[in-house]
Amino acid sequence: MSLRSRQGRAVADALQALDHPTADEVFQAVRRHEPKVGLATVYRNLDALVERGAAQVRHVGGQRRYDPMTARHAHLHCTGCDRLTDVPLEGPLLDSLRRLADEAGMEFEDALLEVRVLCPRCKETRP
Ligand SMILES: [Zn+2]
Ligand SMILES: [Zn+2]
Repeated sequence: MSLRSRQGRAVADALQALDHPTADEVFQAVRRHEPKVGLATVYRNLDALVERGAAQVRHVGGQRRYDPMTARHAHLHCTGCDRLTDVPLEGPLLDSLRRLADEAGMEFEDALLEVRVLCPRCKETRP
């Protein structure tokens, strides 16, 4: 396997293994196996995955994060530890979002929903 495709594979693997990582987090993970990889290469490979429809970009808490799950879903965003949990976005909730657009006379396209939460661990450690 060429260096280029090995690095591409390492980026895709890191994206799967990490939890909605930033490009820098992917870079740190890939660098452990591919010490010569550059941040620009990581960006290029992440952008290629997004272009191929194998990942999407979500902006959460002011950060650009990569998400290998491309089916429509919502995020539970813990404001304590910044972790994102994927939850399905469907059923009555999706229906009412569609209705919101409808009632405004607009055509629904998609919904990127972030629900802010405190995960059990953060809830426990918060004063
Ligand atoms: Zn948390
Ligand atoms: Zn997600």
